[in-house]
Amino acid sequence: MAEYTKPIPEPDPDSAPFWEGAKEGKLMLPRCVKCNRVHWYPRLICPHCHSMDIEWIEGSGEGWIHTFAVQHRAFGGWAEETPFVTAYIDLKEGDRMFTVLRGVDPNKPEEIKCGAPVKVEFEKASDDVSIAFWRAV
Ligand SMILES: [Zn+2]
Repeated sequence: MAEYTKPIPEPDPDSAPFWEGAKEGKLMLPRCVKCNRVHWYPRLICPHCHSMDIEWIEGSGEGWIHTFAVQHRAFGGWAEETPFVTAYIDLKEGDRMFTVLRGVDPNKPEEIKCGAPVKVEFEKASDDVSIAFWRAV
């Protein structure tokens, strides 16, 4: 495997189920048992009702572009990829996830549409970590 030059997240106990799923190509999302709402990012307390009864569900991996920006400057391994597009994704199950958006042309931002459908994909960064990216469909 080629050396991965971008930052690699360090899973912690709150986010471990997400990272375990990502290794298998599954988008795992935390959902509150009390109010039944999905939230992102993973945390111990539901941001909607403050319950600490959180379960994990396998998400559909489907969503829509909420908003986006073209990045012309970046540090480290990301500098090699400029320009690239970052976006907030409205998850089908609820809440939003920040991502590097793939399958779009950063030199033609007028062709990127808020509300356009996207699908999740995973990139192996190390033996322990695969990172979720979203791709325009
Ligand atoms: Zn809740």
